[in-house]
Amino acid sequence: MQLKDQTLFRQQAFIDGQWRDALSGEVIPVTNPASGAQLGTVPKMGAEETNTAIAAANQALPAWRGLTAKARATILRRWFDLMMEHQDDLARLMTLEQGKPLAEAKGEISYAASFIEWFAEEGKRIYGDTIPGHQEDKRLIVIKQPIGVTAAITPWNFPAAMITRKAGPALAAGCTMVLKPASQTPFSALALAELGRRAGIPQGVFNVVTGSAGAVGNALTSNPLVRKLSFTGSTEIGRQLMAQCAQDIKKVSLELGGNAPFIVFDDADLDKAVEGALASKFRNAGQTCVCANRLYVQDGVYDQFAEKLQQAVNKLKIGDGLQEGITTGPLIDDKAIAKVQEHIEDAVSKGARIITGGKPHALGGNFFEPTILVNVPADAKVAREETFGPLAPLFRFKDEADVIAQSNDTEFGLAAYFYARDLSRVFRVGEALEYGIVGINTGIISNEVAPFGGIKASGLGREGSKYGIEDYLEIKYMCIGL
Ligand code: ADP
Repeated sequence: MQLKDQTLFRQQAFIDGQWRDALSGEVIPVTNPASGAQLGTVPKMGAEETNTAIAAANQALPAWRGLTAKARATILRRWFDLMMEHQDDLARLMTLEQGKPLAEAKGEISYAASFIEWFAEEGKRIYGDTIPGHQEDKRLIVIKQPIGVTAAITPWNFPAAMITRKAGPALAAGCTMVLKPASQTPFSALALAELGRRAGIPQGVFNVVTGSAGAVGNALTSNPLVRKLSFTGSTEIGRQLMAQCAQDIKKVSLELGGNAPFIVFDDADLDKAVEGALASKFRNAGQTCVCANRLYVQDGVYDQFAEKLQQAVNKLKIGDGLQEGITTGPLIDDKAIAKVQEHIEDAVSKGARIITGGKPHALGGNFFEPTILVNVPADAKVAREETFGPLAPLFRFKDEADVIAQSNDTEFGLAAYFYARDLSRVFRVGEALEYGIVGINTGIISNEVAPFGGIKASGLGREGSKYGIEDYLEIKYMCIGL
């Protein structure tokens, strides 16, 4: 692996300020999804190493939470600066282990860094309240305090941003953290830990444990020193982790699966809608939890939209993300390919028609052709399940109330999108969609200043924005008698 700063490529876990191997000496190989080539290995740690990291985070807690918010912000600001300084290396590392095009990886690094910058500032504004007393001789004060040692478990689709969205608010609030990154993309996490070390984050405040998901996850959820878990990943694992956290009544934040509807009404600006659909559906090869999963297009513009989308999708360039001009990289693994194929076969067997793509790409490996299906029936699997791949199924609808009902007919509630110009409709539909995030006339909704999160089976809590730090705070009410 060639980096400008070779020391950002770390193949050991980071515990209590030190680089460490697994006690067993075992390792997990990490491969490049574009080629299948092995990039390196990381330690396969388990419960014992995780408990060591938790003990270190607990040890580091009093001094870290005892600093002023400004002192913590200064360190976090340095972490942000170092991430931006090393943006090229971090992006290259990410493309190698995750597959996304280099330009997208660079974008993710600045997006990831923005959470550190934002929360460094926000940490200074953790205000409490003074409540007018309920009795003449009482004074009531509310303060907010860091929750304590926190744990984070993150996925492979955004190897840097899913970490900084959690570590930023946690550290800014005065919490310490033990992170388990996805085993497919641990090098991005370890490079962030190295930059955090250089920024001056004290030993034990931010730890990265790589290894067996089950063993590390069990230790994180069963150790009573951990007061909060923040998880981003599948609903299935989220449900399991939440149940494990029930034992100690740990606070949990969950960013889980979605099944985003993307609605195009007759009065939409179709070119903008195509642009938004392309970004929302095909970014990261369709592997984001806010990706459009079902595209509902109103009868009057259905054919025109399908044709315009087809033209746009045909311009996508598939290939190794390190190559110039590539817009769409490989999927993460063969299971991801199988899921896309399953959704296509199911829809086609029920009457849908492929107008673009539809099969594994000629490049082989984990590459799949960006695909558009038309005339997809309401009972297709893709209407219920998240594809997490480059498949755009187009459903036809006639009536506004009907499309809202179909959009809401899912256990998920993360992101929804719609394109319309009628102002009354914008408010009506925006308010009726049962989702945590609604993109109106835009396909891109994520940023550090706005609250990201879902309702229903899509999760609990919010990340980013002034709300994101609340997840790492406890409220204390002090009742003072005079
Ligand atoms: P994805 O389909 O995005 O990989 P997962 O929910 O399987 O979603 O994985 C997200 C994160 O959760 C990864 O870091 C993964 O290693 C971790 N994980 C998977 N299974 C478990 C488990 N049983 N306990 C704790 N963490 C887990």
